[in-house]
Amino acid sequence: MRPFTYTRADDADGAVASVTADREAMFLAGGTNLVDHLKLGIAAPSTLVDVTGLTSDRITDVDGDDGQEGGLRIGAAVRNSDLAAHPRVRAEYPALAEALLQGASGQLRNMATTGGNLLQRTRCAYFQDRTTPCTKRSLDEPCSALGGWARYHAILGAAEDDEGLQRCIATHPSDMAVAMSMLDARVQVLGPEGERTIPIGEFYRLPGDDPTRDTVLRHGELITAVDLPPAPIATNSTYYKVRDRASYAFALVSVAAALEVDRTPDGPVVADVRLALGGVAHMPWRAHRAEEALRGRPATEENFRAAAEAELESARPVESPAGGNAFKIPLVAGTVTAALRRLAQDPSATDGVSGESA
Ligand SMILES: Cc1cc2nc3c(=O)[nH]c(=O)nc-3n(C[C@H](O)[C@H](O)[C@H](O)COP(=O)(O)OP(=O)(O)OC[C@H]3O[C@@H](n4cnc5c(N)ncnc54)[C@H](O)[C@@H]3O)c2cc1C
Repeated sequence: MRPFTYTRADDADGAVASVTADREAMFLAGGTNLVDHLKLGIAAPSTLVDVTGLTSDRITDVDGDDGQEGGLRIGAAVRNSDLAAHPRVRAEYPALAEALLQGASGQLRNMATTGGNLLQRTRCAYFQDRTTPCTKRSLDEPCSALGGWARYHAILGAAEDDEGLQRCIATHPSDMAVAMSMLDARVQVLGPEGERTIPIGEFYRLPGDDPTRDTVLRHGELITAVDLPPAPIATNSTYYKVRDRASYAFALVSVAAALEVDRTPDGPVVADVRLALGGVAHMPWRAHRAEEALRGRPATEENFRAAAEAELESARPVESPAGGNAFKIPLVAGTVTAALRRLAQDPSATDGVSGESA
């Protein structure tokens, strides 16, 4: 491990100035991802600026005048376990609480912070293994997952070169970020030029021609908070995570879903819906196409599945003798269907959703 300097600035502005001044300096929060990377040699900072005491560790009600009144502001230093346990998160944004509780272990959630969780890096085995080439670590290297072990890798939005050949199929690992994508969270940032707000839909980036970059954050920019806008639909929301074992594993695929149903004499109709997918792309994947396909349509399992399949039309699974990922296509469709089926159930009825079975 490269020797580094550990420092704790007096305030957020000082931390931003320190990191901005040094291309090789990094922020440190809970350290549950970054310290691993120091040990693996993936990150080799000159200086670590500890930010856990510099941003808020509180969750506060938003009563501002920017249309977000009624929402929540989550300080960047809020621990994942505290966020999952917050009464308003559990009552008003249950998909977020469920996503957090299905991530990592209790000990890790007690250390991991909101800012650090958003910025954790891919768990692609080749990215984490410096003895194998990886285009996400270096643009000069090929992607070892192509033709290698691609079970956990992307089926949507992967990077392609000029000839249309895939180049990076790493996925984003955060469960929390998938739920926040579904909730239209807004990331509050402090940088050398002041503050800015980045809608989460614009925060992450597809690999494109530079898979080494996960987000649009510039060097030196500090996440100070994440805002959750008021979202009445989210009181009926859930997070489904499919993984290789019952706990303590990253998602093969995951779904954050929220559903509002009108109960008409002809049966339940989708008044509004929100869907985001995890484990399928370089970023949390907001399934806008599926949402559009569902709004105003009968809330049947047949329609839920058809909407998921519409979203997956652009999927490009990877064939590989070591383990491809075409299985993710039916897995996502089934998981979306199952999540929406549960949300569509009428609590006052005995037979739940009307219509076809899965
Ligand atoms: C064994 C194991 C299992 C796990 N399982 C899961 C899982 O199932 N699901 C899941 O979602 N996650 C999982 N995780 C990942 C865990 O959630 C992340 O490691 C954690 O959320 C990162 O938060 P942190 O505060 O420790 O960040 P750090 O490790 O301190 O930092 C991560 C990155 O964020 C940057 N950073 C931190 N704070 C800020 C800030 N305020 N502004 C700008 N940059 C910042 C750092 O510079 C660094 O690049 C697992 C981790 C481990 C080790």
